[in-house]
Amino acid sequence: MNIILLGPPGAGKGTQAQFLAESRDMIQLSTGDMLREAKDSGTEMGNIVADVMARGDLVTDDIVIGLIREKLEGDKKGGVIFDGFPRTLAQADALEELLADTGETLDAVIELQVNDETLVQRIVGRAEEARAAGQPVRADDNEDSVRQRLMEYYKKTSPLIGYYYAKGKLSRVDGLGEIDEVRAAISDALD
Ligand code: AMP
Repeated sequence: MNIILLGPPGAGKGTQAQFLAESRDMIQLSTGDMLREAKDSGTEMGNIVADVMARGDLVTDDIVIGLIREKLEGDKKGGVIFDGFPRTLAQADALEELLADTGETLDAVIELQVNDETLVQRIVGRAEEARAAGQPVRADDNEDSVRQRLMEYYKKTSPLIGYYYAKGKLSRVDGLGEIDEVRAAISDALD
């Protein structure tokens, strides 16, 4: 089974992707995590993407598609949960081709719905708590970057909602509830 978790920054995609990966023996592919790893390891690509990410802009399609292509060549266990990918129509088309290359298909797209003010408060609040506790804070978890990430979501990623709806693959889940309620709603949508 191959699933996409779609939704704005702070909607809880990462948390829910982790649950799904554990309970269904699948792998979680988070392009955000891969890019942060590249950034932290100081590779040439990491240096190129660092500023783009800190601003809250999207990294180029070529870079993220390349990262996903590489991962899809490895062990996929019971399937893949795409977390934060695709984020543009070009990425969605590329994913379809990559899956078709190995005779696979996309089974479902879960859209996590959360209102914008809640998202900004969640992300900025989480960053403030971490800072007070002396924990590391993401460079893009400040209010300006969060608003830019939201803008990128509406301009470039939200068209994917219509794209997958038209393909009959979209399920919408209320992402505002408790983590366990959201988890149960996703499970219902998939079974
Ligand atoms: P995330 O951890 O998913 O919130 O991603 C953090 C940042 O990484 C985003 O704001 C983008 O700058 C970059 N990023 C992650 N995934 C993608 C993607 N699929 N396409 C372009 N940029 C991405």
